Amino acid sequence: MKSVAFIGLGNMGSPMVLNLLETGHQVTVFDVNEAAYAPLTDAGAKTAGSALEAARDVDAVITMLPNDKIVGELYLGENGLLAQLRSKPLLIDCSTVSAEIVRRIYAAALEGGIAFMDAPVSGGVMGARAGTLSFMVGGDKSAVDDASPMLYSMGSRIFHAGPSGAGQTAKMCNNMLAAILMAGTAEALALGSRNGLDANALTEIINHSTGRNFMTEKWNPWPGVLPDVPSSHGYQGGFQVALMCKDLGLAICNAQLHGSSVPLGSLVRSLLLLFQGQSAEVAKLDLSSIQRFYAPWMEEVR
Ligand code: NAD
Repeated sequence: MKSVAFIGLGNMGSPMVLNLLETGHQVTVFDVNEAAYAPLTDAGAKTAGSALEAARDVDAVITMLPNDKIVGELYLGENGLLAQLRSKPLLIDCSTVSAEIVRRIYAAALEGGIAFMDAPVSGGVMGARAGTLSFMVGGDKSAVDDASPMLYSMGSRIFHAGPSGAGQTAKMCNNMLAAILMAGTAEALALGSRNGLDANALTEIINHSTGRNFMTEKWNPWPGVLPDVPSSHGYQGGFQVALMCKDLGLAICNAQLHGSSVPLGSLVRSLLLLFQGQSAEVAKLDLSSIQRFYAPWMEEVR
């Protein structure tokens, strides 16, 4: 059993905390949004008044935050963990951010004799709830070994991708591909629907043909095809359009920095930005809501 500070209790962080508690860890939580606390304190979590307070005297700190700016400030800021912590907990960042920011944090942590690893996840909200996330880890092997029991409380696979930043690089590649698959799936289902095909029937055919993919099988964007996915619940929960725009932005920046070309990733980001421009609510909808952009005529099951 370990004592853990968990910072960032959103769609992903909250179910991850519940799984840590379920497997016997002591968890102190912090989020700028206090509304996130209730289900976690009911399950046995303690709360803290700040990230720093949560992180004092624990074995490990896990962060699950939106972007580079917030993660950078939390670890590297004047009042951040590395400047202020007197203890040396194992630091694990599970957020999806750039390889560059996690390498900066790793270097600063190393100077202070603290182990830091990037451990972004795949599996989405459903994987976070089920405790079946995959962790893509960058950092020193000894830190990965120390973190493994905690990570296995929240996930079922740990991939040590390489040194600091390697986890984020793997995650960036995976998410760019996921975004392309989602846009392609929505495009195909819209085309079929325009031609009078039923989305359920078309999905069934694709799932037995060469177009089968994770989106047609497990994260279908057409409402009512699968019962327990965001498309069948008004595109609520899941993985926000805004977060995928951020992830594709990371891929595009990285490609520029290292001389790669990501034409499909760039195109899908442009599609998502156009879609986001339609209304303020779109940014918070699940990625699969891109189906609305392709097929505004569809009838939604809510
Ligand atoms: P979210 O927006 O639901 O949650 C983020 C949480 O961080 C919010 O509760 C917010 O209040 C909190 N927060 C923001 N700034 C903070 C600060 N300074 N201190 C403490 N708390 C702060 O996002 P999410 O879907 O849980 O995603 C979190 C991270 O996980 C992102 O980097 C995302 O890209 C990644 N991710 C998400 C999914 C998914 O399916 N949702 C899947 C894999 C990875």
